[in-house]
Amino acid sequence: MVTVYGNNVEMGERAYFTIPVGELAHKAVVEMPVIVVAGKKKGPTLWINGTVHGDELNGSYAAWELSREINTENLAGNLIVTPVCNPVAFECRNKTSDIDNMDMDTAFPGDPRGMLTQRIAYLVYEEIKKHADALISFHTMATPYSADPYSVRKIVPGVSKQINQTAEGMQRAFGVATNCLVDLRSASNELPGVTSGALDITCLKDGIPAFMGEMGQGGKIEDSYVNAAKQGILNVMSYLSMIGEEIIKPYKQILITKRKFLRSNCGGLATSNVRSGEEIKAGGSLLDIHYYGDQINSYCAETDCYIIGIRENPIVNTGDRVAFVGTEWSEWQ
Ligand SMILES: [Zn+2]
Repeated sequence: MVTVYGNNVEMGERAYFTIPVGELAHKAVVEMPVIVVAGKKKGPTLWINGTVHGDELNGSYAAWELSREINTENLAGNLIVTPVCNPVAFECRNKTSDIDNMDMDTAFPGDPRGMLTQRIAYLVYEEIKKHADALISFHTMATPYSADPYSVRKIVPGVSKQINQTAEGMQRAFGVATNCLVDLRSASNELPGVTSGALDITCLKDGIPAFMGEMGQGGKIEDSYVNAAKQGILNVMSYLSMIGEEIIKPYKQILITKRKFLRSNCGGLATSNVRSGEEIKAGGSLLDIHYYGDQINSYCAETDCYIIGIRENPIVNTGDRVAFVGTEWSEWQ
């Protein structure tokens, strides 16, 4: 039996419940859903977290579908899914909530006396870390970008070799073609949530192997990315010996060891013909920006680059991110 937030789940059973995480001004109670699938056999507990950013849906959706389909007779260990880790941002259909505008993936391990986002982070982490032997933290790129699924693993100072090895094994098994390794000792040009207070970083520091699955685009549920996430979860479960299925992944996996955002130096309308997963040679065209006049600003690749994500919503201001690219990568042998 496993007891999560005081709810007892017997081996071989599934449970769904919600826990109150705060109250709005008009007294509405904010609830966060939790799914527990307890295997018939003993084994590790895999925590699947989603929607820490309120509009990032594909991974959670995959975990929910899988939690209903999986045969608990053949399952060794438990799945714990927190599909809407940030219900207040979920309600806003946005990365953060209007209540405190805080990025929850900079807020872990949370603060029980902090702002609402910090308090919810605390309520989630404090309970689930007691159970979790491994974490998949699901994200997507923000809604203005299109990107094929990719994974991200971080090298965090002070984390043991063994934890890093397991995290690497999980990331590889997850099985998507594009994979990033971010060394926090040298990472630059990253968004704040990538480098501090993120759930995966916090787990790694606490001895829980973790990586992030970035499954497409925010603000929508896309079948092909949901299916990639489902296969990825099953692959990780196989790697952790929770199920007996074979690991299924693409023939070629890419490991990106340096990456950066390209930002616009002007405003206007951006159009591009490149796609996520493409390799562009130095000097190759990335995108054009114009304001319906004769002047067209062309952005070319300064170095060889691998397209992780590209601007899809074309309206850009100075400083907006127009592409997310790998600048050092190799085939993952
Ligand atoms: Zn995110």
